[in-house]
Amino acid sequence: MSTVIPAEGTALLSSGSVAGWTQRYTGAVMDTFGPPQRVLVRGEGAYVWDADGKRYLDLLGGIAVNALGHAHPTLTAAISAQLGTLGHVSNFFGTPAQIALAETLLRAAEAPDGSRVFLTNSGTEAVEAAFKMTRRVAASSGVGTRTRVLALEGAFHGRSMGALALTAKAAYREPFEPLPGGVEHLPFGDLGALEAAFAPQSVAEHGEVAALVVEPVQGEAGVRPLPPGYLAAARRLTRAHGALLVLDEVQTGIGRCGSWFAYQQPEIGGGIVPDVVTVAKGLGGGFPVGAVIAYGEAAHLLGRGQHGSTFGGNPVAAAAALTTIGVIERDGLLTNVREVGALLRQEVEMCGSPLVREVRGRGLLLAVVLNEPVAPQVATAALEAGFIVNAVAPDAIRLAPPLILTAEQAMDAARFFATLEDL
Ligand SMILES: *Cc1c(COP(=O)(O)O)cnc(C)c1O
Repeated sequence: MSTVIPAEGTALLSSGSVAGWTQRYTGAVMDTFGPPQRVLVRGEGAYVWDADGKRYLDLLGGIAVNALGHAHPTLTAAISAQLGTLGHVSNFFGTPAQIALAETLLRAAEAPDGSRVFLTNSGTEAVEAAFKMTRRVAASSGVGTRTRVLALEGAFHGRSMGALALTAKAAYREPFEPLPGGVEHLPFGDLGALEAAFAPQSVAEHGEVAALVVEPVQGEAGVRPLPPGYLAAARRLTRAHGALLVLDEVQTGIGRCGSWFAYQQPEIGGGIVPDVVTVAKGLGGGFPVGAVIAYGEAAHLLGRGQHGSTFGGNPVAAAAALTTIGVIERDGLLTNVREVGALLRQEVEMCGSPLVREVRGRGLLLAVVLNEPVAPQVATAALEAGFIVNAVAPDAIRLAPPLILTAEQAMDAARFFATLEDL
């Protein structure tokens, strides 16, 4: 047998062009994402560089992940220190980083006494745990379980089987059916449809509702905020019927929208307290980690032995998350998100390009809505011009830059949009 890896493993990583690396990618990586747009080799702050040495302003942040940008020195040091002290233990044991992260998330969530956290490695796993919690909601008769879960059209909750059952997009779901049952997708933002799902006739026909699972701002659907008042009404209905209100803040949470959690903004949440919140993406600043926050009574839906994860709560991931949250607070990044987000939004809206219709979203989770369905062409033009953006819908460009984005960088982004002519 030939050598699997050279003794000096870094030889595998040594110089190559974007074209050369792309060829190696397609020869070795499963083709679920299509060929990479570029192969990136390093990053610093809000910038990344490809294998040909070209620099890009990263306006996507690894899809709302790189909260502190790239190669943040405080985050790098914390991860390195934890790995050099204690890198992993089983969940038969606890670690200070894991415990402190759970406490910190509860404080950020302003969760009531009795609330608890379950740590995961990704967003889909956080949603998966939340989905399992919904199966533990007792029927009002006290006999049997409730299995009816409401989600919204346009929802994206992840790709594992349970999370996929909550995800709305047919192209993602249909190749993998049958999915876990009981999920109904209601029209987005339609309060009448939500009320109807809880009405006696609907309950008689489909059963009692165990939970409503929603994103405060739908990310993958093109950055669509729920209409004002929706979450407050959803809270009233779920509470009245003994159902859980589960907020999927995997994309919107950890400062992305200008508050720790999007629902905490009165205009979005109207002052509600949810039962369950999922987070991931930005939580570890680029290190894979997610969490489920269970408020109050919901903390006891999963009992001993009913859920688990080998890596969940890993001390390195927990240290990354603690440090990311710590830097966001220390450096006033929630304020930065609100200020630079407002500037970016305003400057792009006023950039004068005939292609730009409006900008929607919250904080630094924005979509530039186009007058024509040419988002893929705009994303390609952006890359050529040195900007990473995402064609999230045919007529929408998603921006989810690092929370450290400066006003100057926001102006650079707006100047790119100003160059767009009709494509
Ligand atoms: C990205 C995302 C997920 C899935 O997270 P992964 O880490 O990709 O598994 C779930 N819910 C929402 C709202 C997301 O944006």
